[in-house]
Formats: sequence, C-alpha cells, structure tokens
Amino acid sequence: MSVRVRFAPSPTGYLHIGAARSALFNWLYARKTGGQFLLRIEDTDLQRSTDESTRSIIEGLEWLGLDYDEDLVFQSANAPKHRAAALSLLEEGKAYRDFTPKEQRNDNNVKEDIAERARTQTDQRRNPYRDLSKQESDDRAAAGEPFAIRLKVAVSGQTHFADIVYGPQERGYSEIEDLVLLRSDSHPLYNLSVVIDDIEMGITHVIRGQDHLTNTHKQVLLYEALGAEVPQFAHLPLILAPNKGKLSKRKHGEVVSLTTYRDRGFVPAAFRNFLALLGWSPPEGKELLSKEELVQYFSLEGIGRANAIFNFHENDPRRWTDDKALWVNSEYIRTMPLDELLPMVRAELRANKLWREEYDDEDREWFSKTVDLIRQRYFTLKDFSEQGRAYFSDDFDFEEAAVAKNLRKEPRLRELLRGLADKLETVEPFNVETSEAALRAFADEAGVKAGLLINGSRTMLTGQAVGPSMFEIFDVLGKEASVNRLRSGVPWS
Ligand code: GLU
Repeated sequence: MSVRVRFAPSPTGYLHIGAARSALFNWLYARKTGGQFLLRIEDTDLQRSTDESTRSIIEGLEWLGLDYDEDLVFQSANAPKHRAAALSLLEEGKAYRDFTPKEQRNDNNVKEDIAERARTQTDQRRNPYRDLSKQESDDRAAAGEPFAIRLKVAVSGQTHFADIVYGPQERGYSEIEDLVLLRSDSHPLYNLSVVIDDIEMGITHVIRGQDHLTNTHKQVLLYEALGAEVPQFAHLPLILAPNKGKLSKRKHGEVVSLTTYRDRGFVPAAFRNFLALLGWSPPEGKELLSKEELVQYFSLEGIGRANAIFNFHENDPRRWTDDKALWVNSEYIRTMPLDELLPMVRAELRANKLWREEYDDEDREWFSKTVDLIRQRYFTLKDFSEQGRAYFSDDFDFEEAAVAKNLRKEPRLRELLRGLADKLETVEPFNVETSEAALRAFADEAGVKAGLLINGSRTMLTGQAVGPSMFEIFDVLGKEASVNRLRSGVPWS
C-alpha cells in the first residue's frame, strides 16, 4: 500500500519550528517512498484559528520547498462526519451519553495537571452515566437534556502500538479517561476528529511530535472501536530550549517561529537542511545535504529518541539562533551556486534600498564578483546589506572597535592614508595586483609596515576590521571610491 502521510497543524498562531520539522519529516518520508504528503488544517478551535495563521503555514511550507499533494483539507469541514462517527459509536454501545450538568463538567479535554487527571480518571470510571440503561439514556436525550458523548474505555486491559521511533508502547486502560468525543454543544473534539480524518484520508503513517504520545493511546482505542486499521506511528523527539524547557514563543520570542528565519536572512534550503538534523542523523555524519540527498538518505529508523536542544543565546545578537543553524546557513551562502544566491542578495539589497538596476545590466559581472568575494564570511543574507553595505553604498557606518584598533591608535595614519590615496590615484590599470604593488611600495617609502596600511585601508573603505583581502576590496570598489574613502575624514572626526 502506498504511503500516505499528513501534516496537520492547528492554525492558531505562527508556524513553530517544531511543527515545521514535523512537516519536513512527513514530506521527506512521502518523497522517499513515492507516497503522498497531505496537508490538513486543524481549524476546529474556532476561537483561536485564524486565516492569517493558515496563510503563514502555507507560506512557510512553500518557503521550505515542501509541496503537498491533493487538495488542502480543512478539518472544520469534516465536523458532520465526526459527529456521525460519535453517534454510531453511541449506537453500538461503544460510547455513552454523559448528562453531567455543565457546572460540574470538564469535557474540553483541557490539559490538567497530573493529580487532577488522576482524580478525573477515577471519577470517570465512576461516571454515573457510563452504565445508564440505553432506554434511560435515550429518554433523557429525547427530553432535551444536554449531554456530551464519551468513549467507553474498557475497565481492564491495555492499548499497544509499536512506535517506529520509541518502540513498543502500552498503557493500561485504567490510565485512560473515557474521552469526550462530542461536547454537549455537539462540537467534536481533537482525538475523534484526528482519527476520523486520518481514516478518511487513508493515512498510513502518523509522524508527529512526541508530545502527542498520550493522545496516540486514546486514538488507538478509537481506531479499534471504529473497527479501522491502526496506522503506523512515528513520534519525533522534542526540540527543547537551551535550559531543556519547552521552546515557546511566549518565553523565547521570534526565534521559534519559522517566518523569523525567512525574515532574518536564511536561505530556505539551508534552514530545511538544519531542520532535518533536529532529531535525524544522516548516514556517515554528512551534515550538509541537498533536497535530493535528504530524500535519498532519510529514513524513519534514522530518527533518534533524544530530544534535540535548540541552542541560542538570547542576549547575543550575533548568536540569536542555534549556532548550527547559523553555521549551516553560512555554508550554504559560501558554497551555493552563485546564480542561486544572486537573486536572494538582490532581494535583500532591494529591501534596504541598496539595489541598483545596473547590477542586473552593465554591472552584472561586478555584482556577481562582489557577492562572491564578500559571501565567504557571511552568516545570513542580512549580512549583505549590513556588514556588506559599504560595497553597495558610500553611506555606511564605521565600527567603533575597528576605528579604534586600525586607525586611531596610530595618529600618523590619517596622513599616511591620504598619501596612499594620492599614490593609488596614479595607478593604471587599477586592480588587485597593481593596487597591492602600489601599497607595498608606498609602505616602503614611508618606512611603515604594509599591514598597518592594509588594516587602516580596510577600515576606511568598509568600516570594518575584518573582510576579504584588501587588494580584492580595492579592486571591487574601484579607484575612485577607494581613493575618496581613503581621503575621507569621517572616521577620524
Ligand atoms: N493539530 C495538532 C497539533 O497541531 C496535530 C495533530 C496531529 O498531528 O495528529 O498539534
């Protein structure tokens, strides 16, 4: 039977990177096996679901290059089917009406703490309505008394399933509540809706976060009650905050939201590659993998059980997200084909008003050479408009530390660099070799080390202390800009 998997996010906010990772693993498994990857928007929480969130999920998947098959499914559209299923379980005596008055009810399946849950479970086994005669139940319903519908979980026995990642799982029925299927306002609840939809969509493998393990036991009971084939399950290890706590937007901010990575200059392929490494180990430790390689090497068996730690440094702007994410992104920026990188840099420059149409036209070659030169040290696409600003505009900032270290500490440099400017002005043609020869000759004449002039020039020309080889910088900036910047008094004032 052909593999059918799904990504089933609730559209109640941003797309969490953990959810994006689930989407990726489902997608990889489908593409690997020649199966189908389906998208179901679980929008049954009408108060919290928003169109904006649905849009951000779809855009996020698109950004990551995860195309879905068949039509998008909105879970809310299936509510009548969910209701019908609950009613037929009731009809078959596998579920029962719970007439507990509203004030005493807790039928939202809300997350309770453990003590509370233990209390409810025992209570539910004692639910006075569980063993109500069919006649009485029907009569009370017919008389208009409101009721919820609960699954009747057998008193003794246990559920089993073999999780592909976590191995055999079992849970005693005594630990599973008589879960609510339909609320008294006939709103179907999560476990019922998911199971009915998964059956309806022919899902063969459910791949989702480990935080759903408890639900899975309940869902197995539902499959059994419905007489449906239980799919295979693969639960994914969690992605935790550096302190091993839950990674949440409320606590950790934008760093957990997928769109942040798009907005802060990640190359989509790099972020996809990084996400794949959160919980899955590629064979032979090869960490940089193209989309094709991910598909080729991916396997559910390669997923580990250890939770992944998402290491970021909240108070360090240069390490605002996981070091590995930044490293993977820098590797992509450094090594990806230039013709794929250039449009991304163009978008970045355009968004910062640094783009000039000539870069697409007569300066095309210059643009590509400059990007190729400066990309070697960059971590994100933002760096092209921030650290790289001086390559695209005369209006750039000087880093205070660079000025102190490479200029101010040697007061003679101000004059020396002006002298160098005069010398470079006479150089023709002006390129890597000739600018180097001129600078070295000038250093000899002035009796100073070339390094002093090189470092000073780098800061005068780019505002920074580090960057590509100085002579490459002279070459891409050209004679006029190089000479003007060497003469500029700005960093000295
Ligand atoms: N809608 C659920 C969630 O966003 C996922 C359901 C599932 O994958 O079964 O957590």
